[in-house]
Amino acid sequence: MTGYNKNICFKNVTLTNGDQVHLAVVNGKVAINPKPDSFIGETVEAKGLIAIPGLIDMQVHVRTPGQTYKEDVHSATESAIRGGFTRIACMPNTKPTLDCAKEILNLRKIISTDALCPIDIIPAMTLGIAGHEIANFHHYKDLGIYGITDDGRGLQDDAVMEHVFKLAKDFGLSILQHCEVESISQHAPLHEGVTSRLWQMKGQTAEAEYAMVARDLNLLAKYGGHYHVLHASSRRSVEMVIEAKRAGLNATIEVTPHHLLLSEEDLPKTRDANFKMNPPLRSKEDQEFLVESFLSGKIDIVTTDHAPHSEEEKSVGFETAPFGIIGLETAFPLLYTHFVKNKKMTLSELVYRMSLRVSELFPIPSNEIIENETANFSIVNVEDSFDLLPEVCRSKSRNSPFWHQRLTGQSMYTVVSGCTHQFSDRFNVR
Ligand SMILES: [Zn+2]
Repeated sequence: MTGYNKNICFKNVTLTNGDQVHLAVVNGKVAINPKPDSFIGETVEAKGLIAIPGLIDMQVHVRTPGQTYKEDVHSATESAIRGGFTRIACMPNTKPTLDCAKEILNLRKIISTDALCPIDIIPAMTLGIAGHEIANFHHYKDLGIYGITDDGRGLQDDAVMEHVFKLAKDFGLSILQHCEVESISQHAPLHEGVTSRLWQMKGQTAEAEYAMVARDLNLLAKYGGHYHVLHASSRRSVEMVIEAKRAGLNATIEVTPHHLLLSEEDLPKTRDANFKMNPPLRSKEDQEFLVESFLSGKIDIVTTDHAPHSEEEKSVGFETAPFGIIGLETAFPLLYTHFVKNKKMTLSELVYRMSLRVSELFPIPSNEIIENETANFSIVNVEDSFDLLPEVCRSKSRNSPFWHQRLTGQSMYTVVSGCTHQFSDRFNVR
């Protein structure tokens, strides 16, 4: 897929505030209601379509370097813009790990030639994400890095974590933690609850997550800085972050669409490993609390934790298959359909959680649609429904539990830094 840099005007498109305008891209910049005689370029009738600020996903496993059979820079960003995203951040659990200047620069070189949208690199806290030796934060800072994570793993060693907190504050780095105490979780494939008992399988309790949140919030209180909980799945984790915010700490939290829409009770009898992710789908009570907190604005942002795996890897049985599902193309339609269309939240609130709030937490330019700013937005069809089909997925992988759902909210065009990408595969719209 290629984008083009021509001027384009979406006539009669609706903005998230309900205003109907002619939204144009002129020399890469936003022009609202350009004078008809002065606009030169392509015109698209967009009545009934909506324009949303480009979405930003802070947690994507681009699998580059080392596992490009699962995903690569081009396919990940194609999948992203198909889903309405105009910027993503990538996780460091690659092969080799993104834990030093050399690997960051190597990946940036690939990004500069292959990416269809910007990718921010969030490198590792510790070398090899092994949890022992802290990476060189001087080099990170020199390279303009703003956040660090050992995602895929939580940092187990309390003393090392304390040291990371001390340094991160000095270097102005946000800490993004995958919260999992491995001595509690023991890498169990699912939540310990009704389904693990039914399947007679070892489960991991929610404590595996919130015990690490608790430890880290104590360190945050001691050292300050910005601490962000990745993919929160349990009630207690969210409650603790809410309490920390109240106490004035800079603690923030995110949730994934799958933890909002599914619980352990949705795990299918077939034991399909496309429902296996880490953290696992929790109890119904946890899920309901996540939804309540999301709808009331207590959870800061949504990320997908897009984690591609090949069909072979996912088909070896629930216990041994790797954790993770893809999510870039499904996130917005899923949340639009289940929350906005059902009138549980407004479109502008959803877009805030998937874009504008993200650029409040991290030093990322806002994608708000403003006259003369760089055009980063998506034109979304909220009138027609479509079937979510694996056949038209742009990711290299197909590991999702959401296929064949009937959804609303598919992107028709995504404009990235003024470059327009059009998606013509509308055959499944009816
Ligand atoms: Zn993770």
